[in-house]
Amino acid sequence: MQYIAPLAKLIEHFRALPGIGNKTAVRLAYHILDMDADQAKALAGAIIEAKEKIGFCNTCFNLSDQNPCAICASEQRDHSVICVVEQPQDVAAMERMREYHGVYHVLHGALSPLEGVGPDQIRIKELIYRLSNDTVREVIMATNPNVEGEATAMYLARLLKPMGIKVTRIAHGLPVGGDLEYADEVTLSKAMENRREI
Ligand SMILES: [Zn+2]
Repeated sequence: MQYIAPLAKLIEHFRALPGIGNKTAVRLAYHILDMDADQAKALAGAIIEAKEKIGFCNTCFNLSDQNPCAICASEQRDHSVICVVEQPQDVAAMERMREYHGVYHVLHGALSPLEGVGPDQIRIKELIYRLSNDTVREVIMATNPNVEGEATAMYLARLLKPMGIKVTRIAHGLPVGGDLEYADEVTLSKAMENRREI
């Protein structure tokens, strides 16, 4: 079916989003057309504002609307413990647990030779830089419990141990092959508690 041009364009944008198929894209586009003008403007404004105001913290590379981010700037946090995660969503999952008081480092991916992701494609250099400047006693590898996450944890452990830093890996209470992001607080809390040195 042919849609009038502005509608077709809207559908196209929705369809480009993750997890949204053709049917949902069409439904969302019609839903937008049903909104009153103010609602639609507020939605568009929220997208623009999020893009304009949110960037990366230059220390931990988590998403933030300030630099350094609230966690890196906080004196309440233990800056001698760094939890390494793959994505900003993982920081959000860890923070929901409310039991971790250290700081983070977001790699923005995991090593995956098959997909051409090497050490230079993720924020490893930045982590090493941090470790050579700050006094860090433990780095907790909280990458995902899948092949890429394990490989990344092992790679970093080999790199960091000669620097005299204790490197630990969160326990396997997490479903293997799963995403940290979707782990519930209890599972995540147990995985952190039972972390072991690697
Ligand atoms: Zn930060």
